[in-house]
Amino acid sequence: MILKFLWVAISFAALHGRVEGEAVKEYKDTDLVAISENAPEIEVDLRLFRTDHPFKKKFYRKNEAYLRHGTLKKLQDVQADLAKKGLHLRIWSAYRPFSVQVEMYYLAGGNGDWVSDPFRSSGKKTHVRAVAVDCTLVDSEGRELAMPTPYLDFEKGAEKMKHSYSQLSDVVLANRRLLKETMINHGMEPYSGEWWHYQDADWQDYPIIEFGDFPEIHREMLVPELYEKFIELSKKE
Ligand SMILES: [Zn+2]
Repeated sequence: MILKFLWVAISFAALHGRVEGEAVKEYKDTDLVAISENAPEIEVDLRLFRTDHPFKKKFYRKNEAYLRHGTLKKLQDVQADLAKKGLHLRIWSAYRPFSVQVEMYYLAGGNGDWVSDPFRSSGKKTHVRAVAVDCTLVDSEGRELAMPTPYLDFEKGAEKMKHSYSQLSDVVLANRRLLKETMINHGMEPYSGEWWHYQDADWQDYPIIEFGDFPEIHREMLVPELYEKFIELSKKE
Protein backbone atom coordinates (compact mmCIF):
# COMPACT_ATOMS: atom_id res chain seq x y z
CA MET A 1 0.00 0.00 0.00
CA ILE A 2 2.81 2.41 0.90
CA LEU A 3 4.52 1.56 -2.36
CA LYS A 4 1.30 2.22 -4.22
CA PHE A 5 0.87 5.57 -2.53
CA LEU A 6 4.46 6.55 -3.26
CA TRP A 7 4.13 5.54 -6.88
CA VAL A 8 0.94 7.57 -7.32
CA ALA A 9 2.47 10.54 -5.47
CA ILE A 10 5.61 10.50 -7.58
CA SER A 11 3.65 10.16 -10.82
CA PHE A 12 1.31 12.94 -9.81
CA ALA A 13 4.13 15.26 -8.78
CA ALA A 14 5.94 14.69 -12.04
CA LEU A 15 2.82 15.13 -14.17
CA HIS A 16 1.70 18.14 -12.18
CA GLY A 17 5.14 19.71 -12.57
CA ARG A 18 4.86 19.29 -16.29
CA VAL A 19 1.46 20.98 -16.41
CA GLU A 20 2.49 23.86 -14.16
CA GLY A 21 5.90 24.36 -15.70
CA GLU A 22 7.05 26.27 -18.71
CA ALA A 23 5.64 25.49 -22.14
CA VAL A 24 6.07 21.80 -22.98
CA LYS A 25 9.21 21.37 -25.04
CA GLU A 26 8.72 20.32 -28.65
CA TYR A 27 10.93 17.41 -29.63
CA LYS A 28 11.89 15.87 -32.92
CA ASP A 29 11.45 12.07 -33.11
CA THR A 30 15.23 11.66 -33.34
CA ASP A 31 15.93 13.64 -30.14
CA LEU A 32 17.35 11.61 -27.26
CA VAL A 33 15.20 12.20 -24.18
CA ALA A 34 15.17 11.09 -20.54
CA ILE A 35 12.26 8.76 -19.81
CA SER A 36 11.57 9.96 -16.24
CA GLU A 37 11.46 13.61 -17.28
CA ASN A 38 9.20 13.10 -20.26
CA ALA A 39 7.09 10.08 -19.34
CA PRO A 40 6.93 9.89 -15.53
CA GLU A 41 4.10 7.36 -15.80
CA ILE A 42 6.73 4.84 -16.96
CA GLU A 43 9.05 3.54 -14.23
CA VAL A 44 12.81 3.44 -14.72
CA ASP A 45 14.79 0.84 -12.79
CA LEU A 46 18.09 0.86 -14.66
CA ARG A 47 19.60 -2.45 -13.63
CA LEU A 48 23.12 -1.60 -14.77
CA PHE A 49 23.08 1.42 -12.46
CA ARG A 50 23.21 -1.22 -9.69
CA THR A 51 25.48 -4.21 -9.19
CA ASP A 52 22.92 -6.96 -8.39
CA HIS A 53 22.85 -8.45 -11.89
CA PRO A 54 24.92 -11.13 -13.62
CA PHE A 55 27.56 -8.64 -14.82
CA LYS A 56 28.03 -7.40 -11.22
CA LYS A 57 29.33 -3.97 -12.13
CA LYS A 58 28.00 -0.46 -12.32
CA PHE A 59 27.75 0.93 -15.85
CA TYR A 60 25.78 4.12 -15.20
CA ARG A 61 26.11 7.08 -12.86
CA LYS A 62 22.39 7.58 -12.27
CA ASN A 63 19.05 5.81 -12.49
CA GLU A 64 17.90 7.44 -15.70
CA ALA A 65 17.27 5.88 -19.09
CA TYR A 66 17.13 7.55 -22.49
CA LEU A 67 15.24 6.84 -25.72
CA ARG A 68 14.51 8.48 -29.04
CA HIS A 69 11.46 10.65 -28.60
CA GLY A 70 9.66 8.76 -31.41
CA THR A 71 10.14 5.45 -29.56
CA LEU A 72 9.16 6.94 -26.22
CA LYS A 73 5.84 8.15 -27.70
CA LYS A 74 5.05 4.54 -28.67
CA LEU A 75 5.83 3.37 -25.13
CA GLN A 76 3.55 6.08 -23.74
CA ASP A 77 0.73 4.60 -25.83
CA VAL A 78 1.63 1.15 -24.47
CA GLN A 79 1.57 2.60 -20.96
CA ALA A 80 -1.83 4.24 -21.49
CA ASP A 81 -3.28 0.81 -22.35
CA LEU A 82 -1.60 -0.86 -19.38
CA ALA A 83 -2.85 1.83 -16.99
CA LYS A 84 -6.44 0.76 -17.74
CA LYS A 85 -5.49 -2.59 -16.21
CA GLY A 86 -3.77 -1.00 -13.19
CA LEU A 87 -0.32 -1.89 -14.54
CA HIS A 88 2.77 -0.02 -15.62
CA LEU A 89 6.00 -0.62 -17.48
CA ARG A 90 9.27 -0.96 -15.58
CA ILE A 91 12.25 -0.23 -17.83
CA TRP A 92 15.48 -2.08 -17.04
CA SER A 93 17.51 -0.92 -20.02
CA ALA A 94 16.96 1.50 -22.92
CA TYR A 95 19.62 3.45 -24.84
CA ARG A 96 23.05 1.82 -24.51
CA PRO A 97 26.05 3.87 -25.55
CA PHE A 98 28.34 1.85 -27.81
CA SER A 99 30.93 1.30 -25.05
CA VAL A 100 28.20 -0.26 -22.85
CA GLN A 101 27.13 -2.61 -25.64
CA VAL A 102 30.76 -3.67 -26.20
CA GLU A 103 31.31 -4.25 -22.46
CA MET A 104 28.09 -6.25 -22.07
CA TYR A 105 28.86 -8.34 -25.15
CA TYR A 106 32.23 -9.44 -23.76
CA LEU A 107 30.87 -9.99 -20.23
CA ALA A 108 28.15 -12.23 -21.73
CA GLY A 109 30.91 -14.39 -23.18
CA GLY A 110 30.55 -13.07 -26.73
CA ASN A 111 27.19 -14.81 -27.17
CA GLY A 112 25.35 -12.79 -29.80
CA ASP A 113 22.00 -14.39 -28.94
CA TRP A 114 22.16 -12.81 -25.47
CA VAL A 115 23.86 -9.48 -26.08
CA SER A 116 24.02 -8.57 -29.73
CA ASP A 117 27.48 -8.24 -31.24
CA PRO A 118 28.17 -4.51 -31.56
CA PHE A 119 30.69 -5.09 -34.35
CA ARG A 120 28.26 -6.88 -36.66
CA SER A 121 25.28 -5.39 -38.43
CA SER A 122 22.89 -7.56 -36.40
CA GLY A 123 24.21 -5.89 -33.26
CA LYS A 124 23.56 -2.43 -34.51
CA LYS A 125 19.81 -2.61 -34.73
CA THR A 126 18.51 -1.62 -31.40
CA HIS A 127 19.84 -0.43 -28.04
CA VAL A 128 22.72 1.50 -29.64
CA ARG A 129 20.17 3.43 -31.71
CA ALA A 130 18.11 4.23 -28.57
CA VAL A 131 15.03 2.51 -29.98
CA ALA A 132 14.87 -0.60 -27.75
CA VAL A 133 13.92 -1.42 -24.19
CA ASP A 134 14.26 -4.31 -21.80
CA CYS A 135 11.24 -4.19 -19.54
CA THR A 136 8.57 -5.95 -17.52
CA LEU A 137 5.08 -5.35 -16.12
CA VAL A 138 4.40 -4.11 -12.59
CA ASP A 139 1.10 -3.96 -10.68
CA SER A 140 -0.28 -1.02 -8.70
CA GLU A 141 1.40 -2.31 -5.53
CA GLY A 142 4.81 -2.15 -7.21
CA ARG A 143 5.10 -5.93 -7.65
CA GLU A 144 6.49 -7.35 -10.87
CA LEU A 145 4.11 -9.73 -12.62
CA ALA A 146 5.35 -13.34 -12.85
CA MET A 147 7.43 -13.78 -16.01
CA PRO A 148 9.39 -16.76 -17.41
CA THR A 149 12.81 -15.82 -15.91
CA PRO A 150 14.60 -13.08 -13.99
CA TYR A 151 16.21 -10.36 -16.14
CA LEU A 152 19.53 -11.34 -17.82
CA ASP A 153 19.22 -14.91 -16.56
CA PHE A 154 21.45 -16.17 -19.38
CA GLU A 155 23.03 -19.07 -17.50
CA LYS A 156 19.95 -20.76 -16.06
CA GLY A 157 17.28 -19.28 -18.30
CA ALA A 158 18.81 -19.74 -21.75
CA GLU A 159 15.80 -21.70 -23.04
CA LYS A 160 13.11 -20.21 -20.82
CA MET A 161 13.91 -16.68 -21.99
CA LYS A 162 12.69 -17.47 -25.50
CA HIS A 163 9.19 -16.66 -26.70
CA SER A 164 8.95 -20.19 -28.10
CA TYR A 165 9.28 -21.73 -24.60
CA SER A 166 5.86 -22.85 -23.42
CA GLN A 167 6.41 -25.10 -20.38
CA LEU A 168 5.15 -22.31 -18.14
CA SER A 169 2.12 -21.76 -15.92
CA ASP A 170 -1.00 -20.21 -17.45
CA VAL A 171 -0.39 -17.06 -15.42
CA VAL A 172 3.16 -16.61 -16.73
CA LEU A 173 2.06 -17.31 -20.29
CA ALA A 174 -0.75 -14.75 -19.97
CA ASN A 175 1.59 -12.10 -18.56
CA ARG A 176 4.17 -12.63 -21.30
CA ARG A 177 1.39 -12.48 -23.91
CA LEU A 178 -0.11 -9.29 -22.46
CA LEU A 179 3.26 -7.51 -22.69
CA LYS A 180 3.86 -8.79 -26.21
CA GLU A 181 0.41 -7.95 -27.58
CA THR A 182 0.33 -4.49 -26.06
CA MET A 183 3.79 -3.70 -27.44
CA ILE A 184 2.95 -4.97 -30.94
CA ASN A 185 -0.31 -2.97 -30.95
CA HIS A 186 1.73 0.22 -30.61
CA GLY A 187 4.51 -0.38 -33.11
CA MET A 188 7.08 -2.24 -31.03
CA GLU A 189 8.60 -5.57 -32.12
CA PRO A 190 9.50 -8.52 -29.89
CA TYR A 191 12.84 -10.33 -30.06
CA SER A 192 12.37 -14.10 -30.16
CA GLY A 193 15.33 -14.81 -27.86
CA GLU A 194 14.35 -12.66 -24.85
CA TRP A 195 10.86 -12.13 -23.42
CA TRP A 196 11.90 -8.72 -21.98
CA HIS A 197 13.30 -7.10 -25.16
CA TYR A 198 11.27 -4.90 -27.53
CA GLN A 199 12.41 -2.59 -30.29
CA ASP A 200 10.78 0.11 -32.36
CA ALA A 201 9.49 -1.40 -35.63
CA ASP A 202 10.78 1.78 -37.30
CA TRP A 203 14.33 1.32 -35.93
CA GLN A 204 15.84 1.93 -39.36
CA ASP A 205 14.71 5.56 -39.19
CA TYR A 206 17.27 6.15 -36.44
CA PRO A 207 21.04 5.98 -36.93
CA ILE A 208 23.47 4.41 -34.48
CA ILE A 209 24.38 7.05 -31.93
CA GLU A 210 27.99 8.29 -32.01
CA PHE A 211 29.80 9.75 -29.02
CA GLY A 212 29.72 13.25 -30.49
CA ASP A 213 25.95 13.24 -31.10
CA PHE A 214 25.08 13.76 -27.45
CA PRO A 215 28.34 14.35 -25.53
CA GLU A 216 26.65 16.00 -22.52
CA ILE A 217 24.19 13.14 -22.06
CA HIS A 218 27.04 10.63 -22.35
CA ARG A 219 29.02 12.49 -19.68
CA GLU A 220 26.01 12.48 -17.34
CA MET A 221 25.15 8.82 -17.98
CA LEU A 222 28.34 6.82 -17.96
CA VAL A 223 30.77 5.82 -15.23
CA PRO A 224 34.21 7.31 -16.06
CA GLU A 225 35.64 4.00 -17.39
CA LEU A 226 32.89 3.58 -19.98
CA TYR A 227 32.84 7.29 -20.83
CA GLU A 228 36.57 7.18 -21.64
CA LYS A 229 36.11 3.93 -23.53
CA PHE A 230 33.37 5.45 -25.69
CA ILE A 231 35.72 8.31 -26.66
CA GLU A 232 38.47 5.79 -27.47
CA LEU A 233 36.15 3.61 -29.57
CA SER A 234 34.88 6.62 -31.50
CA LYS A 235 38.46 7.56 -32.44
CA LYS A 236 38.99 4.11 -33.96
CA GLU A 237 35.99 4.24 -36.26
ZN1 LIG B 1 17.46 -5.69 -25.04
